[in-house]
Amino acid sequence: SEFSDIDLGEIIQSNIKNSTYARPTPVQKYALPIIRLKRDLMACAQTGSGKTAAFLLPILSQIYENGPGKIPESRYARRKHFPLGLVLAPTRELASQIYDEARKFSYRSHVRPCVVYGGADVGGQMRELDRGCHLLVATPGRLVDMMERGKIGLDQIKWVVLDEADRMLDMGFEPQIRRIVEQDTMPKTGERQMLMFSATFPKEIQILARDFLDNYIFLAV
Ligand code: AMP
Repeated sequence: SEFSDIDLGEIIQSNIKNSTYARPTPVQKYALPIIRLKRDLMACAQTGSGKTAAFLLPILSQIYENGPGKIPESRYARRKHFPLGLVLAPTRELASQIYDEARKFSYRSHVRPCVVYGGADVGGQMRELDRGCHLLVATPGRLVDMMERGKIGLDQIKWVVLDEADRMLDMGFEPQIRRIVEQDTMPKTGERQMLMFSATFPKEIQILARDFLDNYIFLAV
C-alpha cells in the first residue's frame, strides 16, 4: 500500500512526496484508515514505528479539508486561542519533534501547528499562538498553565492525541492530563475523537483508555 492510495488531499500528498517517506509503515497503514473513520483508537506502538505521522497526517488533512476558517492576521492579536487538534506529549524534545513533523506536512497549506512546553519563555510561545493555531502540541504542565492564563480554550477541540501515554503517567502527569481532558469546555466523548499511543499497555493505561475513549479500536503493531 502507498500513501497515494490514502485520501489526504493534494498539498499533504505533495509534502509527503517531498519528504523521505516512501511508503507507510505498518502503524501508518493500519491507523490512518481507522482515524479517518473517526473512531477512537488505542495503539501500542514503539518510538521509531512512524506513529507520529500515523496520527498527524489524518488530523492535518481533515483540518485542511475544513478550509481556512478564522485565523487572526495580526501577530499582535493577543487573543484566546481555540485549537481544533491537541497533541499531548511527555517531554519538550518529543513535543518539538512532533511539531517539526506537523510543520513539514502542513507546509504551503493554511494549517498552522504550534508548540508549547515548560522550561522555555511563555512570552515567545504566546506570540507564536497569536499568529494562529489549528493544531497545538503541548506538554501537560505548560498547557494547564496556558489554560489558566486564559490563553487557550479547548471548546473547539475535535481531536485529542495522548502520545507516549505510558511515559506521561511515569512522569506523574496524570493529574494534568485529567485536568485537560475532563475540562468543562472540552467536547465530550462522541463530539471529539481521541487517540492514545503507548509503548506498553499496563493497568494504568487500560484505566485511562476506559475513562477517555469511546468504543475504541485496539491496535498493536
Ligand atoms: P516516530 O515513530 O513517529 O518517532 O518516527 C520514527 C522515524 O521514522 C522518524 O524519524 C520519522 O521521520 C521516520 N518515518 C516515519 N514514517 C516514515 C515512513 N513512512 N517512511 C520513512 N520514514 C518514516
